[in-house]
Amino acid sequence: MDNNKAVSREEVEKLYNMLKKVQEAKGYFFNAHKETTFDLLEGLIVNKQRYGYMCCPCRIAAEDREKDKDIICPCVYRAPDVEEYGSCYCNLYVSQEWNEEKTPHVYVPERRPPEKFGI
Ligand code: SF4
Repeated sequence: MDNNKAVSREEVEKLYNMLKKVQEAKGYFFNAHKETTFDLLEGLIVNKQRYGYMCCPCRIAAEDREKDKDIICPCVYRAPDVEEYGSCYCNLYVSQEWNEEKTPHVYVPERRPPEKFGI
């Protein structure tokens, strides 16, 4: 079986438009740097193809939905990270202020406790 199916631009755009609507209504915005956002969304689609769920594209999956449930996008760390740093760990979801550069763009440290690294 081919586990590395190519992801079309259309698929990425479809996901972008779908999530944008839902997440903006909750106060979470996509990184305005569209290339970064599209790369991360492509990573989510690839992970969905590989594991059956949209595991965070910046973390190593345990390939077990139960072990990875805290890092299925949007992960449980997004809210505190956006609150504290204006961005999630991957810089996919950000605050409006972060996009407008009113919030400094700092490295977002991994908030996931090491014992949860189910690998
Ligand atoms: S860090 Fe960002 S991209 Fe990764 S799972 Fe959390 S919300 Fe999604």
